[in-house]
Amino acid sequence: MSENSPRDNDANSDHESRPTRPKPSGPIPPELHSFYEDRPFHTCTRCGEGLFDFKNGYRVSKIFKGEEVIFEYALCVPCLQNMMEESSEESRQRLYEFQTSRLRQVEGFDECALCDREEEPSTSTEYGLVGICVGEAIVEANKICGLCMGEMGELVSKKTRESWDRFVEENFPGVPVDFEPFPVRNAPVLL
Ligand SMILES: [Zn+2]
Ligand SMILES: [Zn+2]
Repeated sequence: MSENSPRDNDANSDHESRPTRPKPSGPIPPELHSFYEDRPFHTCTRCGEGLFDFKNGYRVSKIFKGEEVIFEYALCVPCLQNMMEESSEESRQRLYEFQTSRLRQVEGFDECALCDREEEPSTSTEYGLVGICVGEAIVEANKICGLCMGEMGELVSKKTRESWDRFVEENFPGVPVDFEPFPVRNAPVLL
């Protein structure tokens, strides 16, 4: 099978260092709504502040297993920064390199943003959906497949893993912590 895909023929050489901030491009898709509240997230999962008050936006993360939502949260930018700071320098660096080296020019939820592997959809397939939102608008939406989430999980240090586990334990009592809560790619881009 050829690695060369004819898809990117309208290649406008987009570099990740573009200084412009992406613009909101429509309402938040229902996949990124809070499953429990049946509407867009209104408050930060960690600090409880109203998300629409943050001019720099917020990030919604949802982990699915098949059709089922097994985990979801929304984090304001200051909380996102705090979580990044609690991660070890090494973990941040590795995740950053993983993500920037694999980032694909795909938008939306059909394909993984970090690889072109295809997983047979089944009730046990895990994947994450991530959205950067500002107010009630979506800025960027991506899917991260279970394989990539697993690889990212292996890149992080014990210390980082423990701080993420603590976040899960404190905010989601009863939720198992053995999956990747942090499809993290966009945190620095917004800032
Ligand atoms: Zn917050
Ligand atoms: Zn992937």
